[in-house]
Amino acid sequence: MLRPSPGRLLLLLPTATYRATAFVEAARRLGVELTVASELPSTFEQVQPAGLVTLDFSDPERAAQQAAEFARRHPIAGVIGVDDDGAVVAAAIAERLALKGNPPAAALAARDKHLQRRELARHGVPVPRFELHNVDEDVTQLAARVHYPCVLKPLRLAASRGVIRADDAPGFGAALERLRTILEQAGCERSILVEDFVPGPEVALEGLVIDGRLEVLGLFDKPDPLDGPFFEETIYVTPSRLPTPAQQALVACGEAAVAALGVREGPIHAELRHNARGPWLIELAARPIGGRCSAALRFTAGETGRENGLASLEELIIRHALGMPLPALEREERAAGVMMIPVPGAGVLREVRGIAEARAVPLVEDVAITAHPGEALVPWPEGSRYPGFIFARGETPEAVERALRAAHGRLTFVLE
Ligand code: ADP
Repeated sequence: MLRPSPGRLLLLLPTATYRATAFVEAARRLGVELTVASELPSTFEQVQPAGLVTLDFSDPERAAQQAAEFARRHPIAGVIGVDDDGAVVAAAIAERLALKGNPPAAALAARDKHLQRRELARHGVPVPRFELHNVDEDVTQLAARVHYPCVLKPLRLAASRGVIRADDAPGFGAALERLRTILEQAGCERSILVEDFVPGPEVALEGLVIDGRLEVLGLFDKPDPLDGPFFEETIYVTPSRLPTPAQQALVACGEAAVAALGVREGPIHAELRHNARGPWLIELAARPIGGRCSAALRFTAGETGRENGLASLEELIIRHALGMPLPALEREERAAGVMMIPVPGAGVLREVRGIAEARAVPLVEDVAITAHPGEALVPWPEGSRYPGFIFARGETPEAVERALRAAHGRLTFVLE
């Protein structure tokens, strides 16, 4: 018997992303008709009029109008934004076309760090004390007023770009100057958040919100301490090794944040910390985990599965967006982890040695070097691109973490 087609999915892809492949593969596996929307017109658009569309991501309302015009010719059954900007555009499109999605206000609150802090604080979600400032303010006065240690951050950059810890007034002055340059280079507004530094271990919570209810898909420990002054990530390992009460408190904090921001549908990725005073919401984004990291998550798929009985995160997200049947949303039994390979230094990448040796480490499943020879590697806080990713699976999170570190130890980055 032929199953009815699940309909057409509109996938909003930033121009440069590693995430396209995972979504495109998942759509193909599910037999979903796919339209990829991007900001830049593609010459393939004429060849494949239903498969590609250009939308103005910088203006969500206009993008929604363009999507509505497209949908008159090729009806759309669901929309997914892959990154932070895409999530805001997806919300506007979902509202316009009456598709499953977040209210535009919720998507905006998840996108803008200051708006988000205000909404979370207003609803009693534990967040650090924060103040909105501007990189052009008098630095001496400002540095004398803030509480240390503090964190300075841009309102709309991602992947910890421009996020800097300062421990005293001289450190604050240096951080502010550095951040000013970063904002100028990125073409960003000059407002920044200054907030109390929250000590304690950090986790990432990956979830799917269904009709306002948060389903936890994975809770990742970050075993390398993120104490600053910059916040480049390294290892993510799941399941979490934190005590159960701490995990429960973190999940409850994530649920409270989802409710406070008004997020109703679709993937979320949140960073939280835990210390003697309980859980803290550092940031919630209404999109899936970034980079290649989603490959660390696989789910028991039951009836809906592939041959190996497992489904990818992207498959779950697509199923949800199109209202297709969802499996149990349970992560596979094995522990899993990913290392975002640290930037080895500033310079032009010549060569990466030891990839085969790193892949040969037991439990390591893949070593993906995403930087190209000739590419300039930029360390944090100016940079925000990892040169690659290492994936491992095993019986325990400890074993997975060890394997990731061992594989990383076999890699040599040759820079110029
Ligand atoms: P981005 O969206 O660029 O990742 P975040 O606000 O999530 O920005 O900050 C990036 C990282 O910086 C966090 O994952 C966390 O490790 C660290 N960080 C940010 N704010 C704080 C804070 N107030 N206290 C402690 N660490 C923080």
